[in-house]
Amino acid sequence: MQTEHIKIQNIAAEEHLLRHAADILRRGGLVVFPTETVYGLGGLATNASSAKAIYAAKGRPSDNPLIIHVADPSDAEAYAHTSSLYYRLAKAFMPGPLTVILPKKDTIPLSTTGGLDTVAVRCPAHPVAHRLISLLGEPIAAPSANLSGKPSPTNAQHVAQDMDGRVAMILDGGESEIGLESTIVKLDGDTATLLRPGAITYEALCMVVDHVSVADAVTHRLAENERPLSPGMKYRHYAPTAPLVLLTGDRERVLDFLRREQSQKNCAILCYDEDLPALKGGTLFPIGAREDLAAQAHNLFRALRQADLTDAEILYAPLPPTEGLGLALYNRMIRAAAHTVKHID
Ligand code: AMP
Ligand code: MG
Repeated sequence: MQTEHIKIQNIAAEEHLLRHAADILRRGGLVVFPTETVYGLGGLATNASSAKAIYAAKGRPSDNPLIIHVADPSDAEAYAHTSSLYYRLAKAFMPGPLTVILPKKDTIPLSTTGGLDTVAVRCPAHPVAHRLISLLGEPIAAPSANLSGKPSPTNAQHVAQDMDGRVAMILDGGESEIGLESTIVKLDGDTATLLRPGAITYEALCMVVDHVSVADAVTHRLAENERPLSPGMKYRHYAPTAPLVLLTGDRERVLDFLRREQSQKNCAILCYDEDLPALKGGTLFPIGAREDLAAQAHNLFRALRQADLTDAEILYAPLPPTEGLGLALYNRMIRAAAHTVKHID
């Protein structure tokens, strides 16, 4: 398949290009589009064969459900059974990087939800995503636009590495602002369960919802035979070719350890900006200042992709904190590392 690569710089002036993208979606084709979290691999959410095409393009198991993207929170009414808690969350966080899981209506085919009777709803804030959904007049089903097992793409170049020749069109809207996938919560009466942490933090959710619990799989490895609350939890995402080890402990000792490793092994290191001068040059990938979690979120997937392109035999990165946006970083890193943490003392 020939993939059209389209840059969108001015939505008003280039609306005809977005109309063309909406036509492709309406006919059952696939369009990659930018969002504020990561790039999405979009198809028509109401069309069972579009969902199948998405799974095929990603090489993703078809029991891993897709998120449907709507232009306005109230558009969810046609596709899901909403609640007052849904609207409280929508008022606080939509449009934005929050996905809410609700009981689904028959308008969404089971192939979009991986056979589940619930559907994940998100209302993206990115102007290109928003305009595209509005022009289509229907929700877009979209997982992240990476091949299954690769980090989510945060720019159109990363998308092209994975999706060129597999989709009809890639819309380039620049770098994704946030860089990590949306926060996912599942609602049950007055209670919300955090299934995937993102830029809407646990602490922010607690300001709006009385009872927020965090699913075990956010921070811990699932036990054999344990049934996850979200099918995506059972897959090992973002797996670099070389093993990734997360380091924790006193800063100076960690740097000593890394310098020793650098002299003995071919290693690639994801490090904080301020640690760069203390390490030997070569395969270092700065992810932002230690205290700047937003910069780390923005840079993490690019750094992982770059580290994966080296011939390093082992990758090292700092273990993120679990507070605030740190929990989202922790969740992605701990999975990429297959829960391998080394305490340096
Ligand atoms: P991605 O589209 O790559 O950001 O992944 C979407 C994530 O949402 C996956 O981890 C799915 O398992 C999860 N998800 C989507 N729909 C549901 C649902 N109905 N119930 C639970 N998890 C869901
Ligand atoms: Mg994904």
